[in-house]
Formats: sequence, C-alpha cells, structure tokens
Amino acid sequence: MLHLDAVSKQFGGLPALSDVTFRVPQGQITALIGPNGAGKSTLINCITGVLTPTCGSISLANGTNSQEISTLPSHAISRLGVARTFQNLKLFERLSVLDNVLAGLNNEAGSSLIMALLRLPYLRHRERQLKLRALEALDRFGLADKADWPAGVMAYGDKKRLELARATVSQPQLILLDEPVAGLNATETLAVEQQLRRLRQEGQTLLLVEHDMELVMGLADQVVVLDSGCVIACGTPDEVQKNPRVLEAYLGS
Ligand code: ADP
Ligand code: MG
Repeated sequence: MLHLDAVSKQFGGLPALSDVTFRVPQGQITALIGPNGAGKSTLINCITGVLTPTCGSISLANGTNSQEISTLPSHAISRLGVARTFQNLKLFERLSVLDNVLAGLNNEAGSSLIMALLRLPYLRHRERQLKLRALEALDRFGLADKADWPAGVMAYGDKKRLELARATVSQPQLILLDEPVAGLNATETLAVEQQLRRLRQEGQTLLLVEHDMELVMGLADQVVVLDSGCVIACGTPDEVQKNPRVLEAYLGS
C-alpha cells in the first residue's frame, strides 16, 4: 500500500530521518515505535505532505498503480485517500462535534456544502447524505449523543475518539494515527484498541505511532522500530521484542 524508500529529512543540516525504508502492507496494522525524538512524527509529516523529505521516495500503491507522493502538497495526498490524526489534537474547538467530522469529508463535499447555501434541492440532499455518514462515524465511536456539542468542551478522551471519527469517516485507503491512546485511561485505551481491530477487520490499512507497548505488541501485524532517525528493526511483534538492538535503544545502554 505504502512504500518508503531511503527517505531522509534534515532540519537545518541535522538529520531527523536517515534512509528510512519499509512497506506498509494493505489491510494490516503496522506500528511505528521508537524512543522520543526518534523521528516518528517527522515521518508521518513526510508521508502526509506536511513536510517534504530531503531525499528518498514515498509511493502509494493502489492495485497496479503506484504514485510518488513525496513531492505532493498535503491536500493532494489527502485526496488520494490518506487520512491522519495528530499527536496533539487538531480539532476545530468552536465548531460542533458533527461539523468536525464533516470536515473529514471535505474532499468529497468539495464546494457542495457552500453550494448548499444556495438551497438547490439536489445539493441539500447531498448535504443530508454527508451528515448521515458523519453521524454514523460518531455513533461508531460512541459520540453520537454529543453531535451538537462544541468540540472544545468535550473531555480529552472524547476528543481523541472524535479525531478517530474524523480520520475514518471518508473510508480512506490508509490511516496514519499519531499516538491515538496517549493520555487515555485503561478503559478508554481498550475501547480504542477494539475500534482499531474492527477497522482492520473491515480491510482498513493502518500505520500506528504509539508509545503503549502492550497495545502495539498485542495489536500490530508488523512493527517498525526507529532510533535516531534510522530503522533499527522491522518484523512481527515477537521478532522485534527479541531484537537486541531494540532492547538497547529502549534501555538507552
Ligand atoms: P518523535 O515523534 O519520534 O518523538 P520527532 O519526529 O518529533 O520525534 O523529532 C525527531 C527529531 O527531529 C528531533 O530531534 C526533533 O527535535 C527534530 N525536529 C522535529 N521537528 C522539527 C522541526 N520542525 N524543526 C527542527 N527540528 C525538528
Ligand atoms: Mg512524536
């Protein structure tokens, strides 16, 4: 689904990513782990076009087609079906919970939501359909009863789930999740874990950045370990947990 080939990123001459190469297989959960500062968020930002890699190739495969995306702007990458959540929440705090999810459909809505203001019957119908889909997404994450709340007043755990609802509502090809359970309690974490399993069952491809090792090792099909911008291990959770380089990176010895 996603191929990264020798991706490097430097900030003012300092390397944040060096020669990162791995693949994200379709329909699986790939976890990207590594100590703080390893380059995980930088990599997600390169994949989503927030940052442009200094060199290397990132391509998105769709059937037999493969498209280089490392040079595309973020809106073009999002239009190709790559959605994400952010390590630090990026919600529209003053907009309603429902409108936040509708924002996740803006590729499809295009200008039709604006056109709906013209009150053309066809467009009103289209707007209703989009709203229904947004409500379904909220329902799936247990937030349907808060659809009218301003997003800003919700509890932190609800905000994290709202980000998931927004990222998944368009049924993207690939979803990148930057620390989806950070700051959540055990019950909330379990609920998110179940939702991620369900997404995989439905065929969704996920790339998950996460610090919660129990979650990662219990959930991921493949684990990629970054340390100081380099891939130091890649394999099944079992393989990676036994890898001496991984133990060393985490113990800092
Ligand atoms: P992680 O998400 O794994 O904790 P990051 O990708 O945030 O790591 O950071 C990797 C490295 O790149 C760190 O050394 C960080 O200080 C640096 N870095 C990240 N973003 C920037 C930036 N915009 N400008 C300069 N340095 C950055
Ligand atoms: Mg990070």
